Amino acid sequence: MIPVTRTFLPSLDKYQRYTAEIFGRGQITNHGPLKNELESILREYFNVKHFFLVTNGTIGLQIAIKAANLQGEVITTPFSYIATTSSLFWEGGKPVFADILPDEYNINPEEISKLIGPQTSGILATHVFGNPCRIAEIQEIATKYRLKLIFDAAHTFGAKWNNSHLMQFGDISVISFHATKLFHTVQGGGIATNDDELAEKIRQMKNCGHDRFTNIAGPGINAECSEFQAAMGLCVLPEVENIMYQRSLIIDFYKKQLASLGEKIKFQQFNPALTQANHAYFSVKFHSEETREKVIKALNSKDVFPRRYFAPSLNKLNYISDNQSCPVSEDLANTIVCLPLYVGLSDKEVTMICDTIKSSL
Ligand SMILES: *Cc1c(COP(=O)(O)O)cnc(C)c1O
Repeated sequence: MIPVTRTFLPSLDKYQRYTAEIFGRGQITNHGPLKNELESILREYFNVKHFFLVTNGTIGLQIAIKAANLQGEVITTPFSYIATTSSLFWEGGKPVFADILPDEYNINPEEISKLIGPQTSGILATHVFGNPCRIAEIQEIATKYRLKLIFDAAHTFGAKWNNSHLMQFGDISVISFHATKLFHTVQGGGIATNDDELAEKIRQMKNCGHDRFTNIAGPGINAECSEFQAAMGLCVLPEVENIMYQRSLIIDFYKKQLASLGEKIKFQQFNPALTQANHAYFSVKFHSEETREKVIKALNSKDVFPRRYFAPSLNKLNYISDNQSCPVSEDLANTIVCLPLYVGLSDKEVTMICDTIKSSL
């Protein structure tokens, strides 16, 4: 069976050395030394002023939305994983969907401008598949209208724009370290900000509202990262450069194999200038939903399971009551598929996948 992704697992020996340490100390969560170590390495890696590990990316988004006080209408992208919209909705915000750019798959700054009104409190944008949004344009809009800007940077490990890691942008950026992501801590995530005030709020909110002493500063939730999660992160981290390189080779091989299809298929999205990609996903887009379904069916019959990332277009969710229209995102959600991509996927397997696609078109 070939799934869309396979979690990278480090050497068991190495992980066991960490778990032996944890058992020896007896401290298994809340500010343990491994969590502190991983947190400070990643703070430096992302080159941000404040960075907090949390138990997963979704709770990271919810905390970011609360800390930045996004209320009322929040302009967001319809093309992302469900957690982008559900966390906003869960926190009481009203998602207002700005359609995406057809070749970049990220939120269209011009559409954002059209939707700003008196109820708008912020912008929540996703760097889809680790490829940067039009960061400068979006930041300019946020500054002009005094809106808070949060980036769902779930896919961005290792990705840069203008020589800066994508976690550096916006008022707050949130990354996911879920097992399906390029770098993982089993489940996990992180919140980054360069704003001292927001950082203090986030620090308290993720720890049930405790301040640095014994007082309760305000309402909070438990989003603390455990030592076992941090240990996994410390084991995977030294491998991550190689993980990205291996994945880039697989993507190159896919592109070569699929080149003969010409206009029948569109590879991965267009990256804005100054992008340094992280090769987190390999998406392909077909001309119609019918063609995509035909290709998926053919692949499934060979035990290959690509995924419809991301469908449905989030403006079409059943709990979003008003009928907002985002034709570009809706078309993409109907025609895109992410092909299998993970370290260990062989050339032979990629060739079989590509041959199957070719013969089904
Ligand atoms: C994975 C993901 C999340 C949620 O992260 P978890 O760690 O799985 O909770 C949020 N947004 C996007 C775009 C994602 O892909």
